[in-house]
Amino acid sequence: MTKTPVPYRIGLGFDLHPLVEGRPCCLGGIVLPHPTGPAGHSDGDAVLHAVTDAILGAAGLDDIGTLFPDTDPRWNGAASVDFLEAAVLAASAKGWRVGNADIVIATEGPRIAPHRQAMRERIAGLLDVEVDAVNVKGKTLEGMGALAKGAGVAVQVSCLLVRN
Ligand code: MG
Repeated sequence: MTKTPVPYRIGLGFDLHPLVEGRPCCLGGIVLPHPTGPAGHSDGDAVLHAVTDAILGAAGLDDIGTLFPDTDPRWNGAASVDFLEAAVLAASAKGWRVGNADIVIATEGPRIAPHRQAMRERIAGLLDVEVDAVNVKGKTLEGMGALAKGAGVAVQVSCLLVRN
C-alpha cells in the first residue's frame, strides 16, 4: 500500500568530542581563538557533525559514522564541511532541502556567544538557507559532569527538511 508522502521531515543530531591542547578549535565551520580544540579523526567539528547527522536522519539516510568511518584513512584530517556538504547533496538527491536548523552547543571550553553570528552565517551558507533559519545557542554545563571545566563539547541539533 502506498503511503501519502509527507512534506516535511525532522532529524535529530548529537555529537561530543573531548577538547585537547594542540588542536585548532574548529566548531560550527569556523576556527575559534581558544587554546584547546576538539580531538577527532577529522577536524573534530562536533557542531557540523551533529548538523550532518540531523540531515541524514531526517532524509532517512545512513549516519555520519557509517558514511565517513573513522577507520577509513580517506577521512583522516578531513574538513567536516565536506561531510555536511555531502549530506546536503544526498538529501537533495532524495528530494529534500533544509528548512531550518536549531543548534545547542554545551561546553565550558570556548565561549560561544561572541561567535554565534559567524557560525550562523557559515552554517547557513553551507545549508543554502537564510541566516535566521540557523540558530546557535551556547550553554555551560554548570560545572557538572565529564565535559565540564572545558574538557569537552557536546552538541545537539534538530533540523527540518522540506520536500522540494
Ligand atoms: Mg564527531
